[in-house]
Order: sequence, then C-alpha cells, then structure tokens
Amino acid sequence: MELFWHRRDLRLTDNVGLAAAADRGAVAGVFVFDDDVLAHASDVRVRRLLDGLAALRDDYRDRGGDLLVARGDPATVLPELADALDADRVVWNRDYSGLARERDAEVRRALDEAGIEREAHHDAVLHTPDSIRTNAGDPYSVYTYYWRKWTDREKDPPAPTPEAGDLVDADALAAAVESDDGALADGGAATDPVAVGDLPAPDDVGFAEPDADVGPAGTEAARERLDAFLDAAVFSYDAERDYPAREATSRMSAFLKYGEIGVREAYEATEEAMAAAEERVASGNGAAGEGGDAEDEDGPVAAVEEYQQQLAWREFYTQVLYHNPEVVAENYKEYEEEIEWRDDPEEIAAWKRGETGYPIVDAGMRQLREEAFMHNRVRMIVASFLTKDLLADWRHGYEHFRERLADHDTANDNGGWQWAASTGTDAQPYFRIFNPMTQGERYDPEAEYITEYVPELRGLDADLIHGWHELSPTQRANAAPGYPAPIVDHSERREDALAMYKRARGEDPEE
Ligand SMILES: Cc1cc2nc3c(=O)[nH]c(=O)nc-3n(C[C@H](O)[C@H](O)[C@H](O)COP(=O)(O)OP(=O)(O)OC[C@H]3O[C@@H](n4cnc5c(N)ncnc54)[C@H](O)[C@@H]3O)c2cc1C
Repeated sequence: MELFWHRRDLRLTDNVGLAAAADRGAVAGVFVFDDDVLAHASDVRVRRLLDGLAALRDDYRDRGGDLLVARGDPATVLPELADALDADRVVWNRDYSGLARERDAEVRRALDEAGIEREAHHDAVLHTPDSIRTNAGDPYSVYTYYWRKWTDREKDPPAPTPEAGDLVDADALAAAVESDDGALADGGAATDPVAVGDLPAPDDVGFAEPDADVGPAGTEAARERLDAFLDAAVFSYDAERDYPAREATSRMSAFLKYGEIGVREAYEATEEAMAAAEERVASGNGAAGEGGDAEDEDGPVAAVEEYQQQLAWREFYTQVLYHNPEVVAENYKEYEEEIEWRDDPEEIAAWKRGETGYPIVDAGMRQLREEAFMHNRVRMIVASFLTKDLLADWRHGYEHFRERLADHDTANDNGGWQWAASTGTDAQPYFRIFNPMTQGERYDPEAEYITEYVPELRGLDADLIHGWHELSPTQRANAAPGYPAPIVDHSERREDALAMYKRARGEDPEE
C-alpha cells in the first residue's frame, strides 16, 4: 500500500498524485496538522480547512475508506506512519510557495533517511511555474505575454478518480493505527496521536470559531457551483463580472485554494462551455444564457475566454511567487527610494472596520468581515484606497486579507496587493488612482451592494450615497446619522500619493 499526503488538494477526483498511487495498488490518505503551517493560519481559514477536510473524509468513507488525521511535524509523522502502516511509498502533490518548498525538502530528507520511497507530482496548476518562459528563458513578468503561451499549450485531461477497491478500507486503517501496541493511536515518539477520521475542533489547534460564514466546502459543492456558473453566468461574465451586486462571478476561489476541485477538471468544464458558446454564435444566438442579465459585449465566446483568463492569472501569480519568493514581504518593483508610506494607525483601523465614510470601500470591508470573501472589483477599490488614499503600506492590507479571507492564497493575494500598490509585476501605473466615489457610482449604480453591507445607508437615494463626500455635515446627519463622514479628502490624498510615488521614483514631486 501507499500513503498519500493531502495538503492543498482536499479531493479524490482529478488528483494527479493520488491517482498515480491508486494505480499501483491500495492507497491511504493522510492529512497532517503542521504547527509551522498553523502559525500562519487564521480563524477563518482553519474553519474553512476543517470543512474541506470533513468533506474529503466523507468522500473517502463513501468509498469504504477513511482519512488519517495526524498532528506534528510532517518530517517526523510521515516516516513513522509509513513505517507503522508498512507503506511502500509516500506520495504528494507539489506546493510551489516558499514555506511549503522548505517543508517538503525536510520531508524528503526524513523519508530518505528512513529508507522510504517518495514521489511528488505536479497537480495544482495546469502549467508548472517553470514551464512557461520567455523566449530568452526567463520567467514572465507581464501577464499578456504569459497568457498567450498559456492558452496555446495543450492541457492535461483530469486524472482518474480512485475506485472503492483502490483505497485501504476503514477497518484496516483502524487496525493498523491500533497495532504496534497502540503507539500511533496514543502518539508516536514525537507526534500527537494519529486518528482515523477524527477531525479536531478549531480550539484543539489553537483557533476560535470565526464570526464570518466561510461558505460551502468540498468537491460536491465546488462542482455544483462551477456547473451552475458555466451553464449560464459565464456567457455574460465579461460584461457583468465588475458589478458586485450581480453575483456574476464563479466564487471558485476558496475551492481552488483548498484544491477541492482539480484545475484540469475545471478547465475541461470551461472548454465545454466554450463549445456551447461557439454553438450559440454559430446558430446566431449570441445572447447570454438563462440567468445571465445582459448580452456580453463581445459575445459568449469572448466571455468564456475572459473566464479562462482568470484561471491563467492564478497560474501567472503562482509562477511570480515561485520565482520570486521574497515578494511575500518585499516590493516586486524596485523604486530608487523606499516608498515613504504614511501608515496612520487610526486611518488603517477605520479601513479595517469599514468606517471610512467611503460607501463602496466600507461595503467591501464589511463583506470581508461577514463572508470571509470580497468581490474582485471591490478588492481593487479597497486596496487602492488603503495604499493611495490612506498612503498605507500594502503589507497592512495583505496581512488583514490574509487573516480574513477564506480564499487567501499567498500568490494571488500578494499579486493583487502589489498590483493595487503599483509595486508588482504587471501593476497598475502609480498615477492611476481609483476615485472611490466614481468607482461606486459606475459599478454599483443603484447602491445595492453598498446597502447590503452598510445598513446605515439603507433607504437613501443612490445619488445621495454616491455623493456622500459632497454633503454638508448637517445633510449627512439628517440622511444617515450613524454613518461616518469621509475620513480623508480624496482629491488632496491623490496629490499626496502622486508626490509620495514620485519621491520614491527619484522624480520631482512638484512636477
Ligand atoms: C487586493 C487583492 C487581493 C486578492 N487576494 C486573493 C486571494 O487571496 N486569493 C484569490 O484566490 N484571489 C485573490 N484575488 C483575486 C480575485 O479577487 C479573486 O480570485 C476573486 O475575487 C475570487 O472570486 P471568484 O472565484 O468569484 O472569481 P472569478 O472571477 O469567478 O474567477 C475565477 C477564478 O480565477 C482566479 N482569479 C480570478 N481573478 C484573479 C486574479 N486577479 N488573480 C489571481 N487569480 C484570479 C481565482 O482562482 C478565481 O476563483 C485578489 C485580488 C486583489 C485585487
């Protein structure tokens, strides 16, 4: 038998490493709660992880198997467990982030020392971070060029799902863990007890139950969501995706982050949607499908391609982080001088609370607090506001998102923040500064999204909400006494931000 180590691939379907192990004989899956990883976790992500693990365990149980759950250093747990189970090999899928790569190197060493075979597979992305490079052989730092190669490359089909007979059955697992004088079940030499199917509560691993609702988890929920999206909304994705009230995006980010759906499966499903879109165009029916609100600007084919582009952004940022692990803490783009961020603690705290007096910003920050999620357009707006209106270091925002987002992914989150702060690979130019009022007016014209999350503004005319910064104190007090006045003046801060970036670029801020 072989041991499969689940990490960011909480699924049985389209799982390259698991399929390879199952192809050779019986396989048992294990998840290890690693304290080094938990040190970087948050209440929200632990809850989301536990939900994903519960779904994975149920998927094992449905096929007669179960999930082994251990806690400790994987470099200690895995050799011990492989030995106790008499496993021929330990198999996993590669994780490309810096911390994971260090951890995996230690696990490799430990297994080698114990004389246990090991095997790592590519699974998390369609094209590995090393495989798409410029003609000169360098990693890409400009998305458009990366995308052209990414979209032209052949994609692997989904990996086969193990059948019931491919899995070590639950009774055999329990017997193996109990054997060896119960050493594993009681806690081995250096590990906490190994359990069959027993998941800890957040409290057991040092976290609290979050206030936010982290949403559905698991492969079945991921498939349902993707199918529903690809049946209808995808055909108008291009035209609708920027409007947060319309729920026109796929909400796949947390499923992809925890690997509850495979990228090959997701991509194949988009190709089926592409074929349907082409058929619509060929039959002269280019309009959006049922459930889509508007006909897409460039037709359904372009809309599906726009969606595939987002999957490619995910892979683009994965390779940026892989080749530049330092971006987690440093600007990707060098400036001549350090950017002199203002970093006012009270302003940053108001931003986190969603009390800046800029309705679209506050709605986004409150959506984050309530749902552990924020719409992409609004992520861009709140990130621009933090860096270019509050002149606060993007790292404050990244830290806050890291704590609060259920879909937090180091590569995407970092890429998004550095884009907004004009410090990243393919970033927004420093002089492009979102006006939060016009962004709100354009993308939430009826203020539906805003009033969903900012109850103080409910019942007010959208014009009043979008003109909040222009109202007098008396008008504001009459309209919505509980909602704050803008904490900064956007026009003034815009000028301050331009001067801040020019200084960092070694340019004259007066020009
Ligand atoms: C400041 C900032 C922080 C962000 N932090 C994260 C994060 O921690 N995790 C995360 O997955 N995304 C992050 N994003 C990207 C994007 O906002 C989310 O992926 C998207 O909002 C998730 O919603 P969805 O699944 O409905 O997206 P859809 O529009 O349906 O897109 C489908 C999938 O494509 C990927 N994707 C979409 N947009 C991007 C993008 N710009 N960069 C990389 N991948 C993308 C995601 O996996 C997403 O699930 C961030 C963006 C910004 C501006």
